[in-house]
Amino acid sequence: MAIAVGLLAASGQIQPGLADGKEFYGELGLDGRLLGCKGLLSAVVKATREARPIVLPNASSQALPCVSSSQLHPLGTLADLLQTPLPTASTTALNGQSSNGQSSNGQSSHRQSSHRQSSHRQSSHRQSSHRQSSHRQHGEPSANNRATKPQQLSEQLMVQPMMTRTLSIAAAGGHHLLLSGEPGTGKTLSASTLPLLLPDLTDDERLQIQIIQDIAGLTPSDERPFRAPHHSASLAGLIGGTSRALPGEITLAHCGVLFLDELPEFKRDVLETLRQPLESGEVTVVRAGITHSYPARFQLIAAMNPCPCGYLTSTTTNCRCSATAIQRYQSRLSGPMMDRFDLHATLNRVDTALILKKHEERLDTGALQTKTAQARSQQLHRQGVLNAALPGSALEALCQLDDGDLDWLAKAANRLKLSARTLHRSMRVARTIADLSGSARVGRDDLAEALSFRPANRGGA
Ligand SMILES: [Zn+2]
Repeated sequence: MAIAVGLLAASGQIQPGLADGKEFYGELGLDGRLLGCKGLLSAVVKATREARPIVLPNASSQALPCVSSSQLHPLGTLADLLQTPLPTASTTALNGQSSNGQSSNGQSSHRQSSHRQSSHRQSSHRQSSHRQSSHRQHGEPSANNRATKPQQLSEQLMVQPMMTRTLSIAAAGGHHLLLSGEPGTGKTLSASTLPLLLPDLTDDERLQIQIIQDIAGLTPSDERPFRAPHHSASLAGLIGGTSRALPGEITLAHCGVLFLDELPEFKRDVLETLRQPLESGEVTVVRAGITHSYPARFQLIAAMNPCPCGYLTSTTTNCRCSATAIQRYQSRLSGPMMDRFDLHATLNRVDTALILKKHEERLDTGALQTKTAQARSQQLHRQGVLNAALPGSALEALCQLDDGDLDWLAKAANRLKLSARTLHRSMRVARTIADLSGSARVGRDDLAEALSFRPANRGGA
């Protein structure tokens, strides 16, 4: 459409200045109809922030999930351009903008209203977005979340009650977690529980996620992402940068959880490529000479069997693997890759009687979520990042260990053969454990619990 508008302007077929300061998107059909195109959300958000009117096809405007703006001018055909009054860039007001410049959201209710009332699309859109936005500004979860999240969390945690503490620590400090255990111990269920413990998305996070989903051609969602790619996933599928430079799974998991089940089955080069985005929170992909950078700040949960047959640690089934096979299986994961996990947990088969007893006790999931949210907000207020992202140099001051505990930790690190980097990981976890109990200082119990999450057979790996 932009080329056609340029030709119309150059040949004097539209009034002078009509196209000035505006952005035009869409494909032009041979019959003059404007056809929708995907991936417009990021362009629309930027143009909205910069107060530039956007002319786009009806089909595209209806698919935009969270933009409420008087700057959107949907058209059906190119001829509509001549009949529809368009404002100039300078007279356009910023609508639907919050005070920090972020566009307001509310995609789910908006999408429903836009589908029901296409003829009144813009007005109903703005109203529903406004309702959802004011809802969010007061920090309330959506009605859907309020009803289903605690119940689902409670049911999932009762199946593997021993994981409640581990998952709380992972959620509170943003720590990457590696789960190991025989088949059927609830590794996948435990991983899918983590997003339920994380706080609801902020407006900014939701917008980032929806822009990524829009570019990938997915239906934008209001929930924290949980992505679980299969171990046969290609490098491009996981990291991004297919022939069309689409974001990969790690970018689709941005602000959410990436779950890699059967971790040793992933190709080693694929896993090694994950190390850089895990540190930096973004991924750079070069395709056809063009460099693309995508955000990729996700929490990693991985699961693995202890051996090829899966029953090495089982108390009920005998392992059939040779020592060589077990060694070969475990060595598929490099030391540096294993080192990315702050928390290593082994899941054992849970006694059915214990599950039934826990059902009777009724877990207070509300208190669990509140504690996690408080610990996270305390960290962000204190240091601007979650504990998992703390630089090693800041740990000493933030943990405030007394001389006795410092001496105890040095001896424990020596005995466990921890490297300086691994010791820092355990101190970050200890800081999170102290935050969960509301303690300003890290004590010996916090340190001891943190050290219990180091892998038993790899020492300081
Ligand atoms: Zn085995």
